Amino acid sequence: MHVLILTACLAADPSLCADRLLPMVESPDAAACEARAAQAAAAWLAAHPDLSGRDWRCAPLSEAPALDLTEVAAGVHVHRGADAQLSPENRGWIANLGVVLGQDRVAVIDPGGSREQGEALYTAIRRLTDLPIGPVVLTHMHPDHLAGAEVFAEAGAEIIADARLPEALELRRDTWAESIPAQIGAAAWAGTVLIGPTRTIEGPETLDLGGRSLDLTPAPAAHTDTDLTVRDSVTGALFTGDLVFRGLTPVVDGSLKGWLDWLAGAHDGDPVIPGHGPVAGSFKEAGAAQGSYLAALRDAVRQALDAGLGLSEAVPAVGQAMAPLAPGWADFEATTARNAAAAYAELEWE
Ligand SMILES: [Zn+2]
Repeated sequence: MHVLILTACLAADPSLCADRLLPMVESPDAAACEARAAQAAAAWLAAHPDLSGRDWRCAPLSEAPALDLTEVAAGVHVHRGADAQLSPENRGWIANLGVVLGQDRVAVIDPGGSREQGEALYTAIRRLTDLPIGPVVLTHMHPDHLAGAEVFAEAGAEIIADARLPEALELRRDTWAESIPAQIGAAAWAGTVLIGPTRTIEGPETLDLGGRSLDLTPAPAAHTDTDLTVRDSVTGALFTGDLVFRGLTPVVDGSLKGWLDWLAGAHDGDPVIPGHGPVAGSFKEAGAAQGSYLAALRDAVRQALDAGLGLSEAVPAVGQAMAPLAPGWADFEATTARNAAAAYAELEWE
């Protein structure tokens, strides 16, 4: 198989260039790719006016960068993200991503934190199988999980998310399009367009992949107000998205109380693939440390409110009360301060 690789440079800084893979020109050989390349590159560049094209080539798939995938259950492959918040070193590749191989098609659970990572995931899938790619499921609105979606939309995949996601993304898209390249570097973000789903779901739904199916289950407001889980019928593997964090400090961007309620519910999975951190053998193992963290956050914020502290006093007081929990959590201090502010706003109306 040959793919089209376009070298493009930022219009704002022509010294910053990156190779972009254009999946719509997936071809059996170089000649078939070259016959379509110029037109496809021009059309793609017209839709990405922040870039200007410098060169293109048709290359064997083996030359395109591919993401590491590990098979954690039969036909269930996972890319483990870096256990850190966004940085130039990790290029935004911090979320766990999933691939589930059916007999008829292959599903993606979260397409990655940038166009670049989405392309590397696409290449890794193509090294596993020639089956059609899609559906792509977005577990929630955060860009470290969904920013690679456009690659798969260009490859013809259906992109599925909770019905609450499009509006949530719309509200934040412009802010993220500025803040993320500042955090990971403009070249690492080059060509990324934050797109939402091509189809949304209002409630539980089952997707047939041929020989296996995926159960999608939306959750009430918890980590965000756009969360859903994905469970594989054959292996019992459960993708929780960011409803479960391990190793990286959980981020409260929905409802602390809703999240604690969700954690207390019955969720069955083996393995359990969290949004961040190592794969676990059970839901209990996966969620235990996060449950302790979120309960301690709730209790510390309630204590600050009971003591009559204003927000600016409450945040450091909560940080101090939570400090003994820090070992084992990456980015603890900064994330806990943000969580304290979010929880304060939620709990002060109790
Ligand atoms: Zn998230």
